[in-house]
Parts: sequence; structure tokens; C-alpha cells
Amino acid sequence: MSKKFCLNASDWFIETSFPGVRRCKMDAFHIDKRLFEGRSQFQKMQVFESRGFGRMLALDGIIQLSESDEFIYHEVITHIPLLSHPAPKRLLVIGGGDGGVLREARKHKLQEIYFVDIDKEVVGIAKKYLDFIARGSFSDKKVKVFIEDGRQFVKRHKNFFDVIIVDSTDPVGPGKVLFEAPFYRLVHESLTGDGIAIFQLGPFLDFDLIIRPTAEKLKRLFRQVNPVRLPMPSYSCGCEYCFMMASKKIDPAAVNVPTIARRLAARLGNKAASLKYYTPAMHKASLVMPKLWQL
Ligand code: SAM
Repeated sequence: MSKKFCLNASDWFIETSFPGVRRCKMDAFHIDKRLFEGRSQFQKMQVFESRGFGRMLALDGIIQLSESDEFIYHEVITHIPLLSHPAPKRLLVIGGGDGGVLREARKHKLQEIYFVDIDKEVVGIAKKYLDFIARGSFSDKKVKVFIEDGRQFVKRHKNFFDVIIVDSTDPVGPGKVLFEAPFYRLVHESLTGDGIAIFQLGPFLDFDLIIRPTAEKLKRLFRQVNPVRLPMPSYSCGCEYCFMMASKKIDPAAVNVPTIARRLAARLGNKAASLKYYTPAMHKASLVMPKLWQL
């Protein structure tokens, strides 16, 4: 007789996020230790030690990252746009309050990194409970930190950034504006002539609901729009996860593996040894879509 499996709320974090709610599929993570629970001006914040995924951060009840696989997310969303760009000098990171994108971006030879997050309290709990992710990124002299709405920030910076990484929450609460056409236009205007942007988007399970409509909005502004796929075991997406890359001039899918490898060596040098997921071949493969996810 199999042991009855009881999900008593006190020991489990039950995630009811988009695909789960629509498909009556939910993920539950066993909580070994609650480390923080609170509410900022913008969102509910939770940090806990889970049984199988290490330390986890949830915002408004949605898992943002886990110690076990955040490196996949942060290596893909950072290195693919930067190494697709021929010579990035100035980067903007919108969101990413945990510091993971900053950690990866600092491995590149960039002149300036601008970081904009709306919620100083997320940055605060990241410094306190998740510093294994940021690893001091917020105090790096090359990183300019701004606490404000990313949409307002890009309004003030036209034709300024070579790469923009939008590592936002999901389209609820403060992140909602970062999934709308007016913001995409502002990002386009904030990029230089050969600029590239990448947007955290959602599970391919939501291809018709979110992925394809977002690509259509971006195609009205950008010359090249490429979905990027990655595995995210701790996300309740039930399949691979999607970032959307939008390029004003070059076609990222046309950059070949030898060129990517040459840029990786020239720009990261021995820091490339720290990468655990990203390789030039995986960069290229992440842009190849199965038939059902081709735009
Ligand atoms: N990097 C994490 C991961 O691995 O999935 C998740 C992203 S990070 C926690 C999401 C960040 O977006 C949060 O710090 C949140 O405060 C920020 N954010 C949400 N809406 C924003 C806005 N309008 N402008 C700037 N930052 C925003």
C-alpha cells in the first residue's frame, strides 16, 4: 500500500502561476526552512530552503529562481544577446533584482552596466539571503544602480544602450507594463542602431497565448525577432521556457558557432570556465525551434 502523500500547507509552497492555473496543474515545493516572508510596496516576497531545489525566491506567489538552476536562466538571458552583438559597450538590465544577470554580465568586457529595478526591497533581500547569486554585483563600481520603474527609465535614455536585458517578473503587478507594446517601443528607441534586446517571457506551453502575440508586437518594431528556449526544471511550465530576443540590425540566428566561440574567448577569457550551461553550440541550438514553436 503506497504511503498517503499529504500536502499540508505549512510544509509546502504550492505555486499557482499562469499555466498551472489554466491547466489545473500546480507545482509544490517542500519547505525545509522559511527564511523570509514579507511584502514590499510592490509585491509579496518569500525566501525559503526547499527540499529538492535549494534556496528559492518567490514574488507574488510565483517562483522566480532556485539555487539549483538559476545559472541556466542567467547564463542564457545574459550571454546570448551579448555574444550575438558585434561589440557591446553599454548594457541595461531591467529587473533582475536578485543580481544573477549582473553576475554574468560582469564577466564581459563592458564599459558600463546600468541596473534598474523598481523594488529596493527585493535587492535588499537578495543581498541578505541570496548573495550566492549576486556575489557582490550591486557594489561593483562598473554597475550603476537605479531604483525605479524600468519603463520610466528607458524614456530618458534614447539611442544609448547596445544591449537591453529585461529580466522582469511575470505580467502581473509591477511587471505588467514590461509586457506591453508602449514599453517595447521605448526599448527600441533606447537601443543604438545595431542594438539587441531580450525579454524574459514565459513557458512555451503559452505559445499561442503569450509567445506568438509578443513576437508579433516586437516584429512591428524590430528587424529580427528570435525566440530562445531553455530548460527550467524549477519553473512550473511543464516544458521549456522562452525568452524573446529582438534585434534592430543583425540576425542573431546568422551568427555562427566559430564566431560565438571567438567572441566568448576574447571577451570572457578564463571567466568562461565558470559557465555551467552556456556553450557556443548551446547558444546556437537555443535559437532552433521545433515546428510547433516556429513563429
Ligand atoms: N532573475 C530571476 C529569475 O531567475 O527568474 C527573476 C527575475 S527578478 C526577481 C524580477 C525583478 O523584476 C524583480 O526584482 C522586480 O522587482 C522587477 N520588476 C518588476 N517590475 C518592474 C518594473 N516595472 N521596472 C523595473 N523592475 C521591475
